[in-house]
Amino acid sequence: MTRHAVLAFLCCAAYASAADTYAAERGRMVRDQIQARGIRDARVIKAMLETPRHLFVPPASVSLAYMDQPAPIGYGATISQPYIVARMTELLDVKPEHQVLEIGTGSGFQAAILAQLAKRVCSIEIEPELATAASERLRRLGYSNVVVRQGDGYQGWPEPVQFDRIILTAAPPRIPDALVRQLAAGGRMVAPVGEGWDQKLVILDKDRNGATRTRAAEAVIFVPMRPK
Ligand code: SAH
Repeated sequence: MTRHAVLAFLCCAAYASAADTYAAERGRMVRDQIQARGIRDARVIKAMLETPRHLFVPPASVSLAYMDQPAPIGYGATISQPYIVARMTELLDVKPEHQVLEIGTGSGFQAAILAQLAKRVCSIEIEPELATAASERLRRLGYSNVVVRQGDGYQGWPEPVQFDRIILTAAPPRIPDALVRQLAAGGRMVAPVGEGWDQKLVILDKDRNGATRTRAAEAVIFVPMRPK
């Protein structure tokens, strides 16, 4: 082997073993944090296994990427705990033909999970730096069916689109009317709703005639959805 070939081999081996380490961590995360708590949806589990979460956190938080907790991503935002991402995604019940709206892009991790389950994902982030970074990250990693816009989620997507599914990853005090209007008939929204420590996951279903019904699930803690 020439010196270059040896170097190339060593680099590849180092890269592969780092990738293997993270794949092993992801496998443990899915088994111990997600399946052990009752998540069964095979598509959700596959997406959680295949999404490189360590590439969605800043260097200072990489050691937290696969731990059973949220991790800071700057600007007062956090990437949600892996179980919460899986739980909300399972509740959302995303089908391959769906158009999905996310409020609170943050790192782009939840959007990347949704991108593997849906036809198209639109995501709104209020913090310009986070919106730009997430948009570039998702493009670089090849999630080509995600569109990120900087903006205020309370206003909904700035085009007259009806979404089959809407997910909020920041907590408003009440479900915003503009988002209910953007939910298609037969659609579902999953959102953390409430103030301070008093938040619950809410599932809102809109029937074929446009009537809505909500039910609350477990208590959660999300960053507040900021008013403009
Ligand atoms: N889904 C993200 C985590 C989001 S943290 C992930 O996978 O990493 C919540 C995010 O909501 C933060 O980035 C915050 O800046 C954003 N946010 C807060 N209020 C908002 C609003 N009114 N509209 C859009 N985004 C908002």
